Amino acid sequence: MLNVLKPHHSTLAAGTTLELIDITAEAARMPGFDSHEQVWLGRDSVRGLTAIVAVHTTVLGPALGGTRIWPHASFEAGVTDALRLSRGMTFKSAIAGLPLGGGKAVIIADAKTEKTPQMLEAYAEMLNALEGQYITAEDVGMTLADADFLAARARNVSGTTRGGSGNPSPFTAQGTFLGLKAALGHRTGGDKLSGVRVAVQGLGSVGWSLCEKLHAEGAILTVSDLDTVRTDRAAEKFGAAVVEGNAIIAADVDIFAPCALGGILSADTIPQLKAGIVAGAANNQLATADDGERLVERGILYAPDYVINAGGVINVAAEMADGGYDVATVTPRVARIADTLTAIFRRAEREGRTTDAVAEAMAREIVEAARK
Ligand code: NAD
Repeated sequence: MLNVLKPHHSTLAAGTTLELIDITAEAARMPGFDSHEQVWLGRDSVRGLTAIVAVHTTVLGPALGGTRIWPHASFEAGVTDALRLSRGMTFKSAIAGLPLGGGKAVIIADAKTEKTPQMLEAYAEMLNALEGQYITAEDVGMTLADADFLAARARNVSGTTRGGSGNPSPFTAQGTFLGLKAALGHRTGGDKLSGVRVAVQGLGSVGWSLCEKLHAEGAILTVSDLDTVRTDRAAEKFGAAVVEGNAIIAADVDIFAPCALGGILSADTIPQLKAGIVAGAANNQLATADDGERLVERGILYAPDYVINAGGVINVAAEMADGGYDVATVTPRVARIADTLTAIFRRAEREGRTTDAVAEAMAREIVEAARK
């Protein structure tokens, strides 16, 4: 646990049971810290809240990122998760050209059994006290209904019914689809999907929509999901071959599209890949930074996850435009993901670096240029 707690004298209402504590100095000693601007702990023992808000950067704009409600094994594990995810949001928004910084929040709780209105009320107070430094949205464990509940009590909540952007997944799927085609184009010189073999891991909101698009353009699909209702439907609708568990990693395909879990590309799994391209929507696909190198050593082209899956944040960010959400501004921005990826692939080859190293360098250059 923390050694030093520094209460923050902020705009908290008199008599509240919420404590807001600046834990930046403590977080600096934890894995995942990357010169984060500020890290906050919101603690309310009466209403059952332990929330960490990590603000990685606000150089390009307020730090936007979802709130993950998850029963982390320890407080440190929760802080590290928030640190890593918020850094990823900085890179994602910078590369997508959005006027947003990177932030992420973690509420340490089981969303099924411990999420209560009282807890969310306390969290709404925390959001208000941060005075616009951080803008939240949905993530694992937080639903649209939760976002609406928070928005009725706090400013700085995006991805709500009222904001108008709705479900981000179709935009994430569209960006992933175009990014996958850009990777194919870079590798083969042509982006026709007819007859191209693609393995999609995870048939959730994004994976299913991606399969629909791939199937419509003639790709041959192999799929996996823990839910056999979904795999059965994919077999029926798309003529997809179904494989169980991690066998999808070793599927004999041209492209592997991870759309389920993070950490799927590791020292264990990379040697098994038969695909020449990895292009999918899952967050945090590389288990470690070394796995980018492992992919290059095997001659596999990797579309960095936070570049290819930025469609959702591009869509949510449109809620903040003057005049409100307009889908017409979203579609061309999502389409630009393909050009951005092509630029990353080319630069990686030119500089003899991994695509994820180049993407990170590009994001940092954008942030540093704005800082000057
Ligand atoms: P989802 O929860 O709707 O779907 C995930 C699917 O993966 C589920 O069907 C689940 O059963 C399946 N799954 C879980 N573990 C699996 C395993 N070991 N093997 C095969 N299937 C497995 O999630 P989603 O919204 O479709 O998001 C998918 C991925 O994309 C996640 O990593 C998410 O963080 C990332 N992402 C999503 C969005 C978005 O807009 N939804 C945006 C950016 C990134």
